[in-house]
Amino acid sequence: MTKQNKRIVVVTGGSRGIGRTICISLAAPDTDIYFNYFNPIDPAAEIAAAAETEKLVADAQSTAISKSVNIAVEKEVAGFFDEILEEAGRIDVLVNNAGITKDGLLVRMKEKDWDDVLDVNLKGAFLCTKIAARAMMNQRYGRIINISSVVGVTGNTGQANYSASKAGLIGLTKTTAKELAPRGITVNAVAPGFIETDMTAALSDKARNAMLGQVPLGRAGQPEDVAAVIAFLASESASYITGQVIHVSGGMYM
Ligand code: NAP
Repeated sequence: MTKQNKRIVVVTGGSRGIGRTICISLAAPDTDIYFNYFNPIDPAAEIAAAAETEKLVADAQSTAISKSVNIAVEKEVAGFFDEILEEAGRIDVLVNNAGITKDGLLVRMKEKDWDDVLDVNLKGAFLCTKIAARAMMNQRYGRIINISSVVGVTGNTGQANYSASKAGLIGLTKTTAKELAPRGITVNAVAPGFIETDMTAALSDKARNAMLGQVPLGRAGQPEDVAAVIAFLASESASYITGQVIHVSGGMYM
């Protein structure tokens, strides 16, 4: 099968956590997966993590190609997508997954911590969507899935920047869904609750127990719980669903 006949999937932040599991869940022999990652503090660890995702995708008889790209920087995003389009010629699925936290109470939050979180979580998704949408409009087909969060709907003490970015992603999802629907492109958001990844491993026991206390199902979710919904939204079975926010949170928000 030539690249032109393949299903092309792009996942931001695919080296670890939920993003890695999304890559694995979308892996198939007829699919090529491009993903990025960005950790300037520990480049060796990020390269090793990306290589592990590539291996796990290969184990599923698929191909993954990864690159270190800061999605908050337009030039880097443009270069990443140019390479994909040059090589693969199309983009069928974009999952805007990459995200960071820089928590703190609002009155103590530094401007940089606000900007960094908004730049990665919200502007990054905007930049990737803008480029991928152009290719999808030409194809008259596409699936865009944004990873929001339950706190984008409920708010969360200590996460003014993060919850604002995740609420912003919901607005971006709904507007993009309206603008792109006439071209056969669906855009949806998934709002995870408390999922076991490096991001939540960084929480104190107190914060962790407080979060778990809000989960009616009484347990943390796994990346697979989120990835299963993304696989559905990316599939043909979800072709009549757009502009929606699907919560995967054990009932944290109802
Ligand atoms: P994670 O384990 O911390 O992984 C984050 C991923 O994003 C990594 O691959 C990281 O790359 C990448 N990344 C970070 N900054 C980037 C940048 N500027 N450019 C490109 N890639 C970047 O996080 P996670 O828990 O899997 O979360 C994935 C998504 O789900 C995030 O959007 C998060 O907000 C959302 N979410 C998570 C939870 C949860 O409970 N875990 C709940 C709700 C929503 P490196 O490996 O190079 O650092």
